[in-house]
Amino acid sequence: MAYTVPKLKDYSAPALDKAVQELLSALQQESKDVSSESDWKTFRDRWMARKNGVLTQVNVLWLKAAPEDAKRDVGQRVNQLKKQVEEVVEQTPEWLKGGASAARLTAEALDITLPGIRRPLGAEHPVIKTSNEMVAIFRNLGYSVEEGPEVETDYYNFESLNFPPNHPARDTQDTLFISGQESKPLRERLLLRTHTSPVQIRTMERLKPPIRIVIPGKVYRNDPPDASHSPMFHQIEGLAVDTNITLGDLKGTLDHAMKAMFGSSVKTAFRPSFFPFTEPSAEMLVSCFICGGSGRRGTEPCRPCKQTGWIEILGCGMVDPNVFEFVKDNGYDPKRVSGFAFGMGADRIALLKYGVDDLQLFFQGDVRFLEQFV
Ligand SMILES: [Zn+2]
Repeated sequence: MAYTVPKLKDYSAPALDKAVQELLSALQQESKDVSSESDWKTFRDRWMARKNGVLTQVNVLWLKAAPEDAKRDVGQRVNQLKKQVEEVVEQTPEWLKGGASAARLTAEALDITLPGIRRPLGAEHPVIKTSNEMVAIFRNLGYSVEEGPEVETDYYNFESLNFPPNHPARDTQDTLFISGQESKPLRERLLLRTHTSPVQIRTMERLKPPIRIVIPGKVYRNDPPDASHSPMFHQIEGLAVDTNITLGDLKGTLDHAMKAMFGSSVKTAFRPSFFPFTEPSAEMLVSCFICGGSGRRGTEPCRPCKQTGWIEILGCGMVDPNVFEFVKDNGYDPKRVSGFAFGMGADRIALLKYGVDDLQLFFQGDVRFLEQFV
């Protein structure tokens, strides 16, 4: 209950003492509840407003109403109360009365000679660092960076890349499908992309030839994690399309990129292979940059190249004309244009580059491991 000024019937000293006491305790109590500037203004007006403030009421109900013989005593007490009320109201902290002055006071309390709060910068993850290095090499050759969704449709991930309907890569053994898609036509069903190649089609739908693009990104396969596999890993893919692109362009470009990445002394070699979206297809090998191609490290056998002196580093080939058929309307007539494509695993290159023998170490988030590569 909020305090109200009572009318006095008894003007004896003990009765006045009691009334004053009640008023003062109400004042103290209400001053404690002041927590903002607007609270304080309400508080001040309630007690001190000329019109109907508590002090004004005290004047009317106690002093003016007092019998003649009590007036002197009551007058003294009322004067004293005024001082006390004013004091309590004035005592309200400075910050409650003016935000601006409070902010200035806080600012002045700041000691700029103290050392700041240290927030250590993060570092690039070794896989991302490796990926960025490779991307930078292709950017210097005039390639632009393209990206695409990690949740893809069957059409972009398989069909438009010339994967035959029963190709094993479509099998659930390899591909992580999004559930509840069975009612949709096959080409619209969603999955986690198994390679960065869908971005090739997406880009060719958007940009007319000639194009030179490099595509870094995460891909997903249903592989249980072990020292060389992970259900999520990173690819870097490239595509060049123009008139008269030949296998010689592919070899020259990739040979340059590998020398830029691993050192000018590495040699490259090609071995026939198969991919649905390139024809002919090849695997490219680089001479082992760990043992220099000798297959041995001192008296020890070289493990990364399995003592062969060569490391398989990427898959590549000339774009299959069947792939161009899907984007023919945007200027990719297979009779007029040709191109090459390549793809490599950023994780595997990072393993080789940093001499790490367990892929899982990259993804466990152990800062003690990761900070070695800063
Ligand atoms: Zn080696």
